[in-house]
Amino acid sequence: MKTRLFYPIKEIFLTLQGEGAHAGARAVFVRTSGCNVWSGREQDRERDTKKGCCAAWCDTDFNGTNGVNGGKLSALQIRDTVVKLWGEREQAPMVVISGGEPGLVIDDTLVLTLQNIGADVHVETNGSQQLPDVDWVTLSPKPPMGVKLNMLAINELKCIYPAGFDPLTYASPLPLSIPRFIQPLDSKDPVTNAANAEACIEFVHRNPEWRLSTQLHKTLGLQ
Ligand code: SF4
Repeated sequence: MKTRLFYPIKEIFLTLQGEGAHAGARAVFVRTSGCNVWSGREQDRERDTKKGCCAAWCDTDFNGTNGVNGGKLSALQIRDTVVKLWGEREQAPMVVISGGEPGLVIDDTLVLTLQNIGADVHVETNGSQQLPDVDWVTLSPKPPMGVKLNMLAINELKCIYPAGFDPLTYASPLPLSIPRFIQPLDSKDPVTNAANAEACIEFVHRNPEWRLSTQLHKTLGLQ
């Protein structure tokens, strides 16, 4: 994996993790710029659903480097922003690297720079890229974009539902000890949101080894 001098970062912010096994935990989010599914432009949504179903509904702004604390940043600059946002705490920072698709951006140097201050480095990925060694990998598959990530590297599976694919396909190669979450597809329409939540609840009743994940940060109005 090649080393970068500068990483395109959309934004870095302190919040609570809203999803999955670490929901509710204090975390610094590092959002990388760019994605290999959707270009991020409205006019490309329909075209890019051929690469990944999520292009139809993605609501993340991952374009450019103009967000809060964003920029073309060195590993040390990213580390320093994490330290500043986390503040003086006995516990080392939890850093969640999200995107866009962080697998397009991160490398060993960045991960080691963060781990060297004791940070727990988490990555949320669509699984299309190999990743450096991190402390926690959340796979959120976006078919038909394939998963190239080694299944042994995955610490949790999080599937958006209903999103035109069967989450069980991705769970079957994983040991049962790996937590698996089903998360309602978020829509601007409250009626659709209620139906999606209901579909997820029914899914968990049919598949009790799965757990419901809600987007706590949206419910609470956090960033
Ligand atoms: Fe959005 Fe993630 Fe899909 Fe990229 S992979 S378009 S960031 S949901």
